[in-house]
Amino acid sequence: MFRDHTCGELRLANAGHTVTLAGWVQRSRKLGGMTFIDLRDRYGITQLVVEADADAALVEAATSLGREYVIQVVGEVDERQSKNPKMPTGDIEIKVASINILNKSVTPPFTIEDESDGGEDIRAKFRYLDLRRNPLQQALALRHRLAHEVRNYLDAQDFMEIETPYLIKSTPEGARDFVVPSRMNPGQFYALPQSPQTFKQLLMVAGYDRYFQIVRCFRDEDLRADRQPEFTQIDCEMSFVEQEDVLNMFEGMMRTLFKNVLNVDIPDPLPRMSWYDAMDGYGSDKPDVRFGMTIHEITDKVKGNGFAVLDDAAYVGAIAVPGGAGYTRKQIDEITEWVKRPQVGAKGLIYIKLNDDGSVKSSIDKFYTPEQLKAIAEAAEAKTGDIIFIMSGPQKRKVQTMLGVLRLEMGGRLGLRDPKVFAPLWIVDFPLLEWSDEDGRFYAMHHPFTAPKPEHMDWFYSDRKEDLEKVCANAYDFVLNGNELGGGSIRIHEADVQKRMFEVLGIGAEEAEYKFGFIIHAFQFGAPPHGGLAFGFDRVCTLFAGKESIRDFIAFPKNNQGRDVMIDSPSQIDQVQLDELNLDIRQNA
Ligand code: ASP
Repeated sequence: MFRDHTCGELRLANAGHTVTLAGWVQRSRKLGGMTFIDLRDRYGITQLVVEADADAALVEAATSLGREYVIQVVGEVDERQSKNPKMPTGDIEIKVASINILNKSVTPPFTIEDESDGGEDIRAKFRYLDLRRNPLQQALALRHRLAHEVRNYLDAQDFMEIETPYLIKSTPEGARDFVVPSRMNPGQFYALPQSPQTFKQLLMVAGYDRYFQIVRCFRDEDLRADRQPEFTQIDCEMSFVEQEDVLNMFEGMMRTLFKNVLNVDIPDPLPRMSWYDAMDGYGSDKPDVRFGMTIHEITDKVKGNGFAVLDDAAYVGAIAVPGGAGYTRKQIDEITEWVKRPQVGAKGLIYIKLNDDGSVKSSIDKFYTPEQLKAIAEAAEAKTGDIIFIMSGPQKRKVQTMLGVLRLEMGGRLGLRDPKVFAPLWIVDFPLLEWSDEDGRFYAMHHPFTAPKPEHMDWFYSDRKEDLEKVCANAYDFVLNGNELGGGSIRIHEADVQKRMFEVLGIGAEEAEYKFGFIIHAFQFGAPPHGGLAFGFDRVCTLFAGKESIRDFIAFPKNNQGRDVMIDSPSQIDQVQLDELNLDIRQNA
């Protein structure tokens, strides 16, 4: 037997027992002739001691150990002289009787401890070493636990986990596809699924009325910190349901995860907010509702005083920042520069301060009387001691979005965005369609299988853009602390409604037939009413841990350029492979 205990297991109660442990040498140090070794496995760290007067060969072996050597030791559990209350095994140490070196290690490129001295790039290159570190092991343990709880919950609710293929045809989730050339079908390509959307709907047609899958999805998008080209979804679909049934089922799942994994109670039922209220009040379809500071429209309050910027604006909005009346000129200038950065895109920032002494100070006090300024500030729900920030522009949603970004920034600066506070909610009543000025056509806000609300069917069949813009969908997002954790919808289940949807999206009959013929045909064979949703599992893990980067919760993630620097991928393939696939690489590519 290699070991009879793990390195995280032994306690004072084991004192006097002879044990065998195996693991990695995290570090070793000499102290007055004695050698102390931290032995690590994924369960924890146990301190080993080789006494100064031990057998010479043993002292010699202990001295020869380098970092990350794999060893097996036999020894007696002993109470420690100086205990370490920070370690679960901190009350004991092992008096080593023998050391067996199972394997040596070259010197690792960084220290494998809770706080590593290695930079991000080097740790990514040696990911298997980084994964030995405790914080990453905890992250993956949390991930495992959450997946387990998801399966338990859904299994208890009669869901079946069914695998769907990875080599498929383009799925319409609005991102670019990763494609795979087919050797047996020269000139033809598979697409990797952006989601199992069409397959899960076909499973509903097939009668598997509660489906789920914890499944890898692929989207070829430009990467941001919280995006990965391949990521995992908890993908679900149900038949014979209305929106209410889906929301209840999955807030139940989230409630169970919060309770069983974090021992956190989330509200029952969860709050719901319409997409329109989210945009108007938070400038975002994934509002962070851990704090207020909501956006107020003040368009009517500011017009007619000869200040052209506001007089000419189609929309004027404001947020009130608590305690902001104390900001210095310099602080306000800095915030103004901040909103002018291209990431926010504002032209400038107007402010009104409601000073503690009752006076008012503003960047526009040339145009407005103090009473008017006060009335404007109060319309934005400012109180004495607050500052309001005002933005304006020709497009309401654009201005609201910028105010929303500023709101998040100010909330962060004021410490109102504690990652250990959880404020989940549903966003509902999404518009079905989104008009693109650039392309002169509608896009599906969610995806083209999302059903219009039954009461909006007249608008849906109208030819007028204004009518189509008003059509809402039974679509919903699960939002947590300013992040979209999941989303889905009630689907179209009638072939003629699906046809109309493709028509509205400017997808001609021929193109629809070529791309989605299989699903249009399937709907002719008795498709039940159905709906579902998918959660971004990597992000669920990250937010449950109160962290920001999803990479820490994926064993082998890609970097910002979509590369796996450990295996050096993507990489070129050789000529033989290219020939087999019938592919030529353009030389000037
Ligand atoms: N397939 C959708 C997505 O990946 C989720 C859904 O509608 O179920 O976002």
